[in-house]
Amino acid sequence: MADTKKITIGHLYPDLLNLYGDRGNIACLMKRCMWRGIDAETIEYNLGDTIDFSELDIVLLGGGSDREQMIVCSKLQEIQPDFKSYVEDNGVVIAVCGGYQLLGSYYKTDEGVMEGLHLVDLYTEQGEGRLISNIVLQSDLVSMPVVGFENHGGRTFINGNKPFGKVLFGNGNNDESGYEGVVYKNVIGTYLHGPLLPKNPEICDWLIERALERKYGQCDLEPLDDHEENEANQYIYERFAEHKSR
Ligand code: GLN
Repeated sequence: MADTKKITIGHLYPDLLNLYGDRGNIACLMKRCMWRGIDAETIEYNLGDTIDFSELDIVLLGGGSDREQMIVCSKLQEIQPDFKSYVEDNGVVIAVCGGYQLLGSYYKTDEGVMEGLHLVDLYTEQGEGRLISNIVLQSDLVSMPVVGFENHGGRTFINGNKPFGKVLFGNGNNDESGYEGVVYKNVIGTYLHGPLLPKNPEICDWLIERALERKYGQCDLEPLDDHEENEANQYIYERFAEHKSR
């Protein structure tokens, strides 16, 4: 068909940044495109590969341990200028946990300071103990609650940026803000694993919509039968956020 749309997803360093099923985010993006007759392709980039951001519509940067982040972070400096242009040109990015931390200017740990990508004005510093919890947010981007799981030693400070959501249950960016993640242009940075997108289909569609709009102009995504996804999401919401007991 002449008017078939196509989305190309770039998965950055999946061998190193793939904690708690972050790869499931790719499967979800692909499926939700294909179910609507939108072609979807994923290109995996490992360390040393050249990345042509001009062929990408969505970039996924997953979570990793401090050790893995350290390995990736020097490589990131080489792709920084192209990645920055992509973001400023409204390129869509979903960055999870370790990937989220690397969007900022630095991540300081007991082992040293990792230089970030400087794509979003934020920074992360390791704190006392790890923030490990189920987590529920209320986000402006969607009508459903956003649910997931967090496990991070870093505390992130987003300066004047817009958070991804307000924390209804769990910790979020740090010990005191009450907010989680960041939204900058078409970039979402978040601590939510799970993976994030299958449990939160409206977030997945937000990313696909932004990518299609950028590439083809106006886009109205055809609704899908999400009753199972919605039930799973609602179950977590009711289990944790409605009662607010830990
Ligand atoms: N290594 C980072 C931290 O502990 C991120 C961990 C993760 O991606 N789950 O803060």
